[in-house]
Amino acid sequence: MNSFSYNKAYDVAEAVADIQVHEQGKFIAGGTNLLDLMKENVMKPDHLTDINRLDLANITEHEDGGLRLGALVTNADTAWNELVEQRYPLLSKAILAGASPQLRNMATNGGNLFQRTRCYYFYDTATACNKREPGSGCSAINGINRIHAILGTSMQCIATHPSDMCVALAALDAKVNIAGPNGDRTLEFADFHRLPGNSPHLDTNVSPGELVTSIDLPPSNFTKNVFYLKVRDRQSYAFALVSVAAALDLDGDVIKDIRVAMGGVAHKPWRRRDVEESYIGKMASTENFQELAETMLTGAIGFGGNTFKIELAKRAIVRALNEALKTGENL
Ligand SMILES: Cc1cc2nc3c(=O)[nH]c(=O)nc-3n(C[C@H](O)[C@H](O)[C@H](O)COP(=O)(O)OP(=O)(O)OC[C@H]3O[C@@H](n4cnc5c(N)ncnc54)[C@H](O)[C@@H]3O)c2cc1C
Ligand code: SF4
Repeated sequence: MNSFSYNKAYDVAEAVADIQVHEQGKFIAGGTNLLDLMKENVMKPDHLTDINRLDLANITEHEDGGLRLGALVTNADTAWNELVEQRYPLLSKAILAGASPQLRNMATNGGNLFQRTRCYYFYDTATACNKREPGSGCSAINGINRIHAILGTSMQCIATHPSDMCVALAALDAKVNIAGPNGDRTLEFADFHRLPGNSPHLDTNVSPGELVTSIDLPPSNFTKNVFYLKVRDRQSYAFALVSVAAALDLDGDVIKDIRVAMGGVAHKPWRRRDVEESYIGKMASTENFQELAETMLTGAIGFGGNTFKIELAKRAIVRALNEALKTGENL
């Protein structure tokens, strides 16, 4: 492991100022991803700014019924929070589908957004990887790519974003609040993560040295008919091959609003609001769900080892929506 300096910050301004003076500085929260990457020599920060003492570990209510999730609330405390369970059950389910209880106790909401891909070659410093070393090539395109992306890929990178939490946040239209050297700003969740394009080393639209302070959830009617389906090689402690966050707001059998976000298929949670909108006013039926799934997968490309994901994703969407319908019946 490379040597690095370390400092504990006690407020947001101090954390942001501390990291600016180090070219390769990184914030450290739970450390469950960053420390692994440092031990594997994949990330080599010259400085760590420890943000665990910042006052960002609360969940608070907005007057309109929405919630603010502090960046330092752990994934476990978020998933089991009573207000989150009542108002955003899709988020609770998605978080609890991820990692293990021990990891969820350490992992923070802010850190979850920035977790890096699980592409085998990204972790293997003996191989070419444009994400780890820009311009070196992509070993996965013609290599082992069972876990890789089928949507929004580029010839520079076909990695996926591995988070479960982020798939639900995408479906729920979350917003991310950020503090930086030039002041505060807010990013729509859809604009937070990037597609690989020609710069796969950039995972997000957050600049180095900017700190995520909280995540806002707008008021939501998706409290009954929701389901998070995670298809994976092992039932526990495994990342998604394909996951689907499905939510329905119904008037009888008619769709008043619908959300479908996918994980494990792209460099960011994959959602098509245009497709969702075209089903508003239609029947919540398997036939319509099948048609929606076909459209959601328009443009999907397989690279050999992962081509099975195209059919898997379609079936997962239909199943998740049907399960969301049933979930409502049981309440
Ligand atoms: C064995 C294993 C299995 C896992 N399985 C799953 C799974 O199934 N599903 C899933 O979703 N996740 C899974 N995870 C990932 C886990 O959820 C993440 O590692 C965790 O959420 C990261 O949070 P952290 O607080 O530990 O981040 P850290 O490791 O501390 O930081 C991660 C990155 O985020 C940056 N960062 C942290 N906080 C902030 C902030 N507030 N502002 C700006 N930058 C910040 C850091 O600089 C670093 O680059 C797994 C992890 C492991 C080790
Ligand atoms: S898919 Fe992306 S992360 Fe994986 S080897 Fe290619 S460039 Fe690297």
